[in-house]
Amino acid sequence: MHLWLKPALAQEIVGYAREAQPNECCGVIFGTGETAVQIISIPNIASEPKYNYHMDENALAKALYQAEHSQLEVIGFYHSHPRTEPIPSPVDTRLANYPDVAYVIVGLKNGEAHLAAWSIKRDQVMPIELVVSANKPIIENKQLSIVQKRAIIASAIIAFIFMLVLSLSLLPPAPIIPLH
Ligand SMILES: [Zn+2]
Repeated sequence: MHLWLKPALAQEIVGYAREAQPNECCGVIFGTGETAVQIISIPNIASEPKYNYHMDENALAKALYQAEHSQLEVIGFYHSHPRTEPIPSPVDTRLANYPDVAYVIVGLKNGEAHLAAWSIKRDQVMPIELVVSANKPIIENKQLSIVQKRAIIASAIIAFIFMLVLSLSLLPPAPIIPLH
């Protein structure tokens, strides 16, 4: 799994993160598949926005409605860490309710922006390859899909049966044993 952001979109997220300092910013990433198309900033209404984020539900609902109308899906959420690394905090992990999206974090440790993307499934946090480039990345799909796996197994079975039939047909006829 990877997430592709064009440089302008990555800069947009970093821009929101810098504007929100010393608070955290948050928002939604719309796109199709693994391609980000649009960034929507959502107000952070956490009681302690310096240390956490909580997206304003009304703004979020509005954004989701917009996305549906533009035939886009939610492929990720982003938020910022104004003083630390872009690594999910225990609270980030606990509150991550969507196992199939990318969680992008902008870390502004020492004023330098670092972006990272994560997959958070229950308590499992795994890094996602974040590609920031103008052109669509060519990423080999190393994992075979179930359909591909089935096709490989099926062709192996067919090949085996074919060999079996072939070898049986090539067997010399059974010798005739004379009976006395
Ligand atoms: Zn966080």
